[in-house]
Amino acid sequence: MSVKVTSKDQVESILSKYDTFLFDCDGVLWLGNTLLPKVMETLNMLRSHNKKVIFVTNNSTKSRQDYVQKFDKFGLKVNKEEIFGSAYASAIYISEILQLPKDKKVWIMGQKGIETELHEVGYETLGGSDPKLNETLDLDDKENCPVYHLDPNVGAVVCGLETNINYHRMAMALQYLQKPEVEFVATNIDSTFPTHGLKMPGAGSCIEAVAFAAGRTPVSCGKPNPGMMDAICKSHKIDRSRSIMVGDRLNTDMKFGRDGGLATLLVLTGIETVENVKKLEEQEQPTYYADKLGDLFELLQ
Ligand code: PLP
Ligand code: CA
Repeated sequence: MSVKVTSKDQVESILSKYDTFLFDCDGVLWLGNTLLPKVMETLNMLRSHNKKVIFVTNNSTKSRQDYVQKFDKFGLKVNKEEIFGSAYASAIYISEILQLPKDKKVWIMGQKGIETELHEVGYETLGGSDPKLNETLDLDDKENCPVYHLDPNVGAVVCGLETNINYHRMAMALQYLQKPEVEFVATNIDSTFPTHGLKMPGAGSCIEAVAFAAGRTPVSCGKPNPGMMDAICKSHKIDRSRSIMVGDRLNTDMKFGRDGGLATLLVLTGIETVENVKKLEEQEQPTYYADKLGDLFELLQ
């Protein structure tokens, strides 16, 4: 049964049990552009107890460096090495797990963060932020229409959230995905994401359109893919039994922590409600839940 964190003793027990704290970002640290209460104090408190903190986001639109700047805007100082985004997870999946040769190119349906991370691991990219993708396709103009002029060196297609999704982008992705040797990678499959109190279509909704046309299912690299946890553990030498994943979503963050062998803490500042927790089978419930992350700081005072 999930335990609600309501006392100083419970926070002290959490501090004694765990050395590494993995945090989802949106819905846990902030909502859109608003920092949630006592988040800075909680992170400072954890660092002053020598805890390792790592930030894990499914938002593929930003690179790790963009996230450092986002944290900085809130007055939060973090290193790039403390951040794992789904764009970076996709880049290391292609480079280290698929071992796609570096002379192969990656075609992107998605935003800048994916391009930046792929360039950093050494791939040339096509598609992505290329402004030509905003042009309407003239399918009768065989000489100029790009669907008839594919690059033979494309070895993978990566799809993430593309807020300018259009037929041109989908048609190009589909041409490459009809080649069985071209790998199909999704940054994350969140159906929606919340912004300013609204629910917006997420990366999964963009990717589904392309996956449906291609009749293929991509490998999704963001939470809850255990490969992302493996990459985090490899670069930070984490003892999973002394680590905890803090998140606001059951089917991504909490599953990611649980499948990875970590304890889990659900905060109720984002997607889920306490009713959603109670509906779950016992083994699927988070280890702990709290009204907000800042309670860890406030309860210790
Ligand atoms: N994808 C996009 C495009 C987003 O903007 C967000 C949140 O802002 C997410 C996914 C979910 O991010 P997180 O994993 O940090 O909650
Ligand atoms: Ca979240």
